Amino acid sequence: MAGPNRHEFNWKKHVRFFKMCLQVVPGRYASMDTTRMTVAFFAISGLDMLDQMDAIEKDRQKMVDWIYSLQYLPNAARSNEGQCGFRGSSTAGRPFDPKESSRNPVPHDSGHIAGTYSALLSLLILGDNLSKIDRPAIVAGLRKLQLSDGSFSATPEDGENDMRFVYCAACISYVLDDWSGIDRPKVIRYIKNSLTYEGAFAQGPGLEAHGGTTFCAVASLVLMGCLHEVISPSQLDRLKRWCLLRQQSGFQGRPNKPVDTCYSFWVGGTLQLLGVFNYSNNLFNRGFLEETEDSVVGGFAKWPDNSPDPLHAYFGVCGLSLMSEPGVLKMDAALNVSERSAARLRGIHSLWRDSADGGVPPLLPLEHTAFLKRCLMALPSAAATADASRSPPKHILDSYLILSSTGWLWLISVCVALIYSITWMF
Ligand SMILES: [Zn+2]
Repeated sequence: MAGPNRHEFNWKKHVRFFKMCLQVVPGRYASMDTTRMTVAFFAISGLDMLDQMDAIEKDRQKMVDWIYSLQYLPNAARSNEGQCGFRGSSTAGRPFDPKESSRNPVPHDSGHIAGTYSALLSLLILGDNLSKIDRPAIVAGLRKLQLSDGSFSATPEDGENDMRFVYCAACISYVLDDWSGIDRPKVIRYIKNSLTYEGAFAQGPGLEAHGGTTFCAVASLVLMGCLHEVISPSQLDRLKRWCLLRQQSGFQGRPNKPVDTCYSFWVGGTLQLLGVFNYSNNLFNRGFLEETEDSVVGGFAKWPDNSPDPLHAYFGVCGLSLMSEPGVLKMDAALNVSERSAARLRGIHSLWRDSADGGVPPLLPLEHTAFLKRCLMALPSAAATADASRSPPKHILDSYLILSSTGWLWLISVCVALIYSITWMF
């Protein structure tokens, strides 16, 4: 609602809620313990979307160490690469040690595809340069998880396989900039076979169309860069129609189901990837999210008058990002992170590709990058005091962040940033 009666979301409480999710959560969330890495991703990415990463700055390195402690590394002979990836949590009982003992798994230990997806994106958002990831091992682990029908299991032992894990596999491949862990023709066939008579995607062939799985299918095709080659124009039209019809006030996941906070992202994000989000009604969508916001402890619940949880808190914020809510960063819907973090990933990819071409520039230690970033950010704010009518040019920081992560180029980046800043100030 525009005007003086417009509801203001209480971002301070949402920040506090996400911080709580990274420390201790109420007992009713005990069942989430085996997916602690994914809960952490919701909180870390939620804080990023609210541009509040400073709120966890003092614990940032501890979080990075904890995430790396969940990495299942290969043994010396690399004979166990099929087990590799990131564990979903430390629940299996392996003692915390972010260093070499990661190579000593406990019985029935292995990576989990959702844990790997959550860990990689969380490391990226936390500012890690991903240099301690064993990329070949994760790709080998991914290859082991693909089944003959093209879908993916969550773990080497797991019987569960569906579109959720197809999306995780696509995201992991995109982040690692390596698609050799996926048989693309097979996975594309699986996605096509999951398109239902209703016009949207199901978890697998012969099942019911669903908002969450539709997002997973469409985002996977977008990440693979083949949406329009795989889905015909008439199929795309039916898909857009199905998604738009899911809006009641907020969005529902299936026909005849109640609206639910998370579908403001699952269906909203799909509409954005299809280029028709502008045909949804922001007033109704935002109004529903106002009802599911918890005004006491922060976060969003699934439904009005329910308790908030990390998943719905995060996707409530994402839904608002799609509607360009002030105070929330724009997001890269396919990758499910802020555009800022997605841009940072592209900088890391450039670095990897340069290294693969022969040059191996040493990486600038992360602490130096953070320090230089703070120095640079101080310049525009000092100048803004003198002239509040001018806002700092965003490209300074973007240029700086990409250049500063490329080893010896940090010196050039600082010079470029300073020249830009001085030019802008005067
Ligand atoms: Zn939900």
